[in-house]
Amino acid sequence: MIYLDNAATTRTAPEVVEAMLPYFSENYGNASSIYSLGCASKKALNQARRTLADYLGARQEEIYFTAGGSEADNWALKATAEAYREKGKHIVTTRIEHHAVLHTCEYLEKQGFEVTYVGVDENGIVDLAELEAAIRPDTILISVMFANNEVGTLQPVREIGQLARDRGILFHTDAVQAFGQLPIRVDELHIDMLSASAHKINGPKGVGCLYIRSGLKLRSLIHGGAQERSRRAGTENIPGIVGFGKAIERAVRMMPEKTQKETELRDYLIARIEKEIPYCRLNGDRSRRLPGNVNFSFRFIEGESLLIMLDMKGICGSSGSACTSGALDPSHVLLSMGLSHEMAHGSLRLTLSEENTREEMDTVVEAIGEIVGKLRAMSPLYEDFLKSAGSCSPDIS
Ligand SMILES: *Cc1c(COP(=O)(O)O)cnc(C)c1O
Repeated sequence: MIYLDNAATTRTAPEVVEAMLPYFSENYGNASSIYSLGCASKKALNQARRTLADYLGARQEEIYFTAGGSEADNWALKATAEAYREKGKHIVTTRIEHHAVLHTCEYLEKQGFEVTYVGVDENGIVDLAELEAAIRPDTILISVMFANNEVGTLQPVREIGQLARDRGILFHTDAVQAFGQLPIRVDELHIDMLSASAHKINGPKGVGCLYIRSGLKLRSLIHGGAQERSRRAGTENIPGIVGFGKAIERAVRMMPEKTQKETELRDYLIARIEKEIPYCRLNGDRSRRLPGNVNFSFRFIEGESLLIMLDMKGICGSSGSACTSGALDPSHVLLSMGLSHEMAHGSLRLTLSEENTREEMDTVVEAIGEIVGKLRAMSPLYEDFLKSAGSCSPDIS
């Protein structure tokens, strides 16, 4: 099997699993207890919190554990809306956010908030001028993702943070895709809230965090016990949190090597596909993109068919985000970048890890070439296209 869907989820690293195991068996104590078994859990909880805070240049008490990235996004948006509704009812976000942000915004619109969805350029980068123009006197929050999960583009986070700071507006970033992949310092980037998730960085599923700058008066997410400074009640998921801490420690340690390796493989894969497969388009910015992200559209092809045929060859990819594959809607991200429905439907996302090899990339390019050729040979659209192209008909074999 060749796994190229690391933006959807990653394999939990063996050292992460190993770090978690004792917290299922020997160290099962409740972190709120007084006896030493509970203290061991409390210690592990604080250790993980410190590791995450250090990576962000934040303080320990600014990290709140959640059950993942979606929960952190929901919390940031809903709690800001509720806490600041007297100040204003306007939120600015972008058209290319993850559904955890977009669908939360739709929910808030039903509650009487107004949301402006700022567009992106043809490479999927947020238009700063449009963002600035969208700000109103009653804007309470700007939420822009750090890196896009489909096309991997990196957004001008520092500039957006500065814009928000200058106007006294809160800035939230969904950093799930960038967390542990790039250095992130919340103070330098003027970030007030940041969402992250463990399973995208070789940690376990079902655990994430929200960074909340101290002093923000956000309401509690879950009411109950005093866990997470009374803002998110419920007995802590100690094994998950320990795994998250280990995963970020490992990601920071491996970052230079991993970035270099993935960037090389990414650029090799992009170059071969562009050279060998006609009528394709690289989606996303060529340089301002995540090290492991490759996203192409192939004309005259259904992304779904391509994925199924790749799967039969043991290759795991995606047609966009894991949440939209299965649905027949084309990617909202690609449409926002100005792609036609046809090109958006013909997209393939391959996201790498440091475990991938050049040989795997060779296998993948050959497989894509073969499948694209087969699918096009069956496509009436492609047949029409060849006829109209006349004698210049391309060689697709
Ligand atoms: C995966 C992802 C999420 C959701 O995180 P979960 O932990 O799976 O809930 C949110 N935003 C982005 C950008 C993602 O890639």
